[in-house]
Amino acid sequence: MTAMKIEQAWNNALAGVALWARTNSPWVLHFNTGSCNGCDIELLAALTPRYDAERLGVKLQASPRQADILICTGPVTRQARDRLLRIYEQMPEPRFVIALGSCALSCGVFHDCYNVVGPLDRFIPVDVYVPGCPPRPEAIIYGVIELLKKLHPVDVILEGGSA
Ligand code: SF4
Repeated sequence: MTAMKIEQAWNNALAGVALWARTNSPWVLHFNTGSCNGCDIELLAALTPRYDAERLGVKLQASPRQADILICTGPVTRQARDRLLRIYEQMPEPRFVIALGSCALSCGVFHDCYNVVGPLDRFIPVDVYVPGCPPRPEAIIYGVIELLKKLHPVDVILEGGSA
C-alpha cells in the first residue's frame, strides 16, 4: 500500500467516525432571530424530558463553535441580521440549519413589518424547513430526524472512496 493510499484510508476512517458521532449526537444551537417566543417554547418542550430529544442524542449547545445544527425561530429582524451571520460564520464546517416556524420560513404574521428584513433563507442556507405557527415538538423532532437522514450515508463522501 502506498503512502497516499494509507493516508486516504485514514482520512476515510476519520470521516466515518465524525459522521457517526454527528448523526448519533448532533449538538444544536438555538437562535431567536425575531420570534414572538411561541416557537421557542415549543423547541424548549422538544428538548426537555416530556419529549426528550436527548434520547436521539440531540444536545443543546451554547456556543456556535461546538454546534452542528443551528435552529432559528422567527423572521430575521434588522437587529438580529448581523448577529445571525456572525453566529453562522462561527460554526465549524459542516454546519446545518433548520428554519423553525412559519415566520422563519416566510416571515409569517410579521410579513412587511418595518423591522423585518426577510425570511431566514434570504441570509443563510437552510437545510430543513419545519412549518407551523408554532410547530409542535413532534414536528421539530421530525425535522431533526429528516436532517440526520439527509446526512446519512452517502452525503459525506471523500474523494476516492465512501466514508
Ligand atoms: S411562527 Fe407563530 S409562534 Fe413562531 S414566531 Fe411566528 S408567530 Fe410566533
